[in-house]
Amino acid sequence: MPGLVEAHFHATYFNILELQDLDIKYPVEYVSILSAVNTKLALECGYTAARSGGCLFNVDVWLKQAIENDLIAGPRLSASGREICSAGGLMDWNPEFRKIGMEGLVFIINGVEDARRAVRALVKDGIEWVKTYPTGDAASPDTNDHHTLCMTFEEMNAVVQTAHNHKLKVTGHCRATEGIKNALKAGYDCIEHGTFIDDECLDLLLARDVPCVPALYFEKASVLRGPEFGLPQSVIDGHQETLDGGIASALRILRAGGRIGLGGDYGFGWNPHGDYAREITFFVKDVGFTPLEAIMCATKTGAEIMGRADDFGTVEIGKLADLLVVDGDVASDITLLEDRSRFIAVMQGGIIKAGQLTRTARTWDNAIKMG
Ligand SMILES: [Zn+2]
Repeated sequence: MPGLVEAHFHATYFNILELQDLDIKYPVEYVSILSAVNTKLALECGYTAARSGGCLFNVDVWLKQAIENDLIAGPRLSASGREICSAGGLMDWNPEFRKIGMEGLVFIINGVEDARRAVRALVKDGIEWVKTYPTGDAASPDTNDHHTLCMTFEEMNAVVQTAHNHKLKVTGHCRATEGIKNALKAGYDCIEHGTFIDDECLDLLLARDVPCVPALYFEKASVLRGPEFGLPQSVIDGHQETLDGGIASALRILRAGGRIGLGGDYGFGWNPHGDYAREITFFVKDVGFTPLEAIMCATKTGAEIMGRADDFGTVEIGKLADLLVVDGDVASDITLLEDRSRFIAVMQGGIIKAGQLTRTARTWDNAIKMG
């Protein structure tokens, strides 16, 4: 089958307990090393490509370069950078006296000039996807998941105009209904989560064939394992509401002919790296996708979101041979994709990078070097 594509990947999230851990727990130098461990793990899990959903400082761009130069192992990356959020929005909840600015993770903006300035900084960083925070989230009690205006329409519009001018793509954390509409009207290229859609959202989404990445296993993991990690009950209740809304919306989008990418927002203590394929199982067992629909979302659609459908995402002559060879029939047992011990080979560009045959591949590699 085609190699898997993680459509909402956070290489720099080192199984954190809260978002501010990214900025205060370790220096970026150490986070970069942890990120390289995460990319290697993702490849071993059968993910030959990944689209970032945001990262600390500019780590993604350099991870991507190190992977392309074969210095470290990992999925082919589509890089994001620091994310964009308005002051007082989802990513800006620490009061001033705590002196936690979150500078590594987000640009905190006030108005359209700040929005343009942030995007221009990202242009210079060399990223591909601008990640923004138009709406709230259950994880943040102050800006719950129905909260719309974490960013104004004018700010979102300024982000899109500036980004598109430099050929960057824009996506955003969109849960609340009005926020989803604002993002689509502003010209977003992808919607993350798309939790509470209505008829108008669906029409806007389908009109431009904008893909949506629900990233639902994070919500399920938050409900299942939240108590063990000390999440307050009110937050867990919010995640349950998000989960229910997200399931209904994802199914609606797919059945209406829309595109769904699969990625699970991994990198939190209760939703750690390595569990990536749980998202695929979840979409089959809890959302109601057929195994082949879920696999197509996790391969072909992921490649399309990355803008690389000509290179990978399907098994076709002329593509890069990013392949996953599984011992078993994933169409009859989707959970096989969660079990790395069943992977015979994970190939990138026709080269075996992980799986049971890795040792053999190294022998071949040596044989080639020896002529
Ligand atoms: Zn995310």
